[in-house]
Amino acid sequence: MANTSASRIIQQARDHDRLLLTEVEAKALLSAGGFPVTQTHLAQTRDQAITHAQTLGFPVAVKVCSPEVVHKSDVGGVKLNLASAGAVGQAFDDVMTAVRRTQPNVALDGVSVQPMAKPGLEVIIGLTHDSQFGPVIMFGLGGISVEVLKDVAFRLAPLNRSDAKAMIREIKSLPLLLGYRSQPAVDSAALEQVLLQVSALAEAHPEIKELDLNPIFAYPNGCLAVDARILLHAENPGILPRPFLATTRATLYRAFNPKAVAVIGDKRAMNYMWLRSQSAFQGKVYSVQIDEREIPGITALGVPNYGSLAEIPDEIDYVMTAVPRQIAPRIIADCAAKKVAGVMLFTSGFSEIGDEDGKRLEQTMADTARTAGMALIGPNCMGLYHPRLGLRNYADLPVGEAGTVGFIGQSGTHTITFSLAAPNYGVKISKAVSFGNAAVLDAGDYLDYFSVDEETRIIGMYLEGVREGRRFFSLLRQVTAEKPVVIWKGGKSEAGKRAISSHTGSLAVPSAIWDAMVHQAGAIPTETFDETLDVIQLLLFAKPAAGTRVGLIAMTGGPSVIITDAFEHAGLTVPLLSESSYQELSSFFNIIGGSFRNPLDSGHTIGMGQSTENLARLLAILDRDPHIDAIVMDTGAGLVAGQWQSHPQTLDALLDTLANFATRSAKPFFVVLQPFAREAALLQVRNQFHARGIATFATPQRAARAFRLAADYWRFHTGSVSK
Ligand code: ADP
Ligand code: MG
Repeated sequence: MANTSASRIIQQARDHDRLLLTEVEAKALLSAGGFPVTQTHLAQTRDQAITHAQTLGFPVAVKVCSPEVVHKSDVGGVKLNLASAGAVGQAFDDVMTAVRRTQPNVALDGVSVQPMAKPGLEVIIGLTHDSQFGPVIMFGLGGISVEVLKDVAFRLAPLNRSDAKAMIREIKSLPLLLGYRSQPAVDSAALEQVLLQVSALAEAHPEIKELDLNPIFAYPNGCLAVDARILLHAENPGILPRPFLATTRATLYRAFNPKAVAVIGDKRAMNYMWLRSQSAFQGKVYSVQIDEREIPGITALGVPNYGSLAEIPDEIDYVMTAVPRQIAPRIIADCAAKKVAGVMLFTSGFSEIGDEDGKRLEQTMADTARTAGMALIGPNCMGLYHPRLGLRNYADLPVGEAGTVGFIGQSGTHTITFSLAAPNYGVKISKAVSFGNAAVLDAGDYLDYFSVDEETRIIGMYLEGVREGRRFFSLLRQVTAEKPVVIWKGGKSEAGKRAISSHTGSLAVPSAIWDAMVHQAGAIPTETFDETLDVIQLLLFAKPAAGTRVGLIAMTGGPSVIITDAFEHAGLTVPLLSESSYQELSSFFNIIGGSFRNPLDSGHTIGMGQSTENLARLLAILDRDPHIDAIVMDTGAGLVAGQWQSHPQTLDALLDTLANFATRSAKPFFVVLQPFAREAALLQVRNQFHARGIATFATPQRAARAFRLAADYWRFHTGSVSK
């Protein structure tokens, strides 16, 4: 019933080539769908307006009703608090005159008449359409908050109840909704319901492009929309996202696990970087180069060279090439003819520079690759890294050891430096890919492959944008339930967006929508390189926490204060311990120059980490304490690193105690190793902690931020607290 009347109203507008519904039409559509909206009638004449007002009961509001007026107040088209027939008649005349004067050619249906709603807190609920992500729902406080402060929350439709709850909880003005001074709290459940109704409407009627309920009056009990605007799509949108293909997975599997690879067109001017990178590759390496001057340098590396790919007497699984852009399409065609699984194109100068030639060449290569079912990686990228097999995209990268962290990067530099820096964080790479322009395979295709890759337990990404937002979002949501996905997004500033378009040609998405998408999918958003590695390290080493309450151990006074600030600023809690913990602590804690409330300022009690028996007692107390979810220790490395160097056995004893605790504890445990003047000494020490399975952070702030991000992830996926 509801749907049919909605369809009828939409069809009527369509029949008249109109995309904007009038307020009367929009409200009719919504009230048929069970939305709480003010009852609103159309009056074409003065007398009709008065009759409607008398039926509805005074006071009423009278507003211009036109399929061409978007903002009614702006044209003098809204009259409020009309308490008599005379006032309504006057309002009718005034509105018609005002609108005819300001917009003489506009089509006028007449006016709408509606009861004055009792005042409430004004909020806004909207539906918009993002070109990448499709229907997106917005919630915010009305009036000045939405216009000036842009205090709004977004989520992609469809919403579930916890999305709706999260949206309401996310806005900065939340305290106004929760009640303040003598103001009671508003009915959040009623607002959640409207959010879910908007989501259902968007699903049932994809023809609706935008919907604004602005304002909705929120009351202690229920809510009521007094204005509604609906805009239709010019054309019917909405084909389902392209599926992820098993064949793409299989092709990427073969490319990532090649038995034989070929490098096409490597040369001295590039110091044979691609061939040299394969020096530890476990399979066979071939070169294709026709320039006579380059061949001796290639054979000197011990690599057999051929005049063409076709001549190589072996199946080739993966090709790396840096040939000039003009001949790239021919090389891609050769790869297709040779039935290679994947080809990575280092060459740049395609769609990212925006000239017609570049776009056309990229299109030709993409067509060839698609037809052949071949994985075209790039162009404008560094391709694949699989350390266990010795398949490298940079000669300095480590090989041999199998890791568990996969990295997918739109930028070659970020992907390589991530892979280079990871060992300093105790992180070993399973596989990495730098994919550049994404002419054929986009971030999602690689994510899909990593999601089933058995070596990969945690996935890091550097992204500037994705081409098919919906496709990416629905996959991401599925993957995060199995494996944590950390997304470092570049190009969030306006100037950064400009830099993106000259880098990889991605569509730059508004940051608010991107952030909403990442949260909603249960992925982990990061802002920097360090933050990305920090949170990955924590996820790798630490046990999941059941909550956000931390027990802190520091050696001395100043650091105790700062580590507490750092965790509190990150939105975590540093609570008082339980009574029984305090009783136990008081039996042995040295309070001269220390204290044990939380943080435990305990350098004296634990001999700056050397009295391992007392240290073990402190740790055990925190592990048992029901007020604590995670345990963090600032080791005072800036003071004691010299001692660790001159008496390595003191470090060993500390490490034994901490590693023993970390393995047996029920809660996550990690340490701050802030170098201050001891950077060089700590490089080695850090590795020793990682080798014992303990995550380390360079500052208390970085530790706190990493824990915040990880705790959000754990909470989202255990559902212990709805987000
Ligand atoms: P506009 O097209 O300018 O957004 P609105 O219908 O939202 O027009 O009216 C402007 C303002 O008037 C609203 O923000 C609201 O504060 C007030 N208003 C409108 N309709 C009513 C009503 N039925 N009851 C009470 N206040 C109303
Ligand atoms: Mg309005």
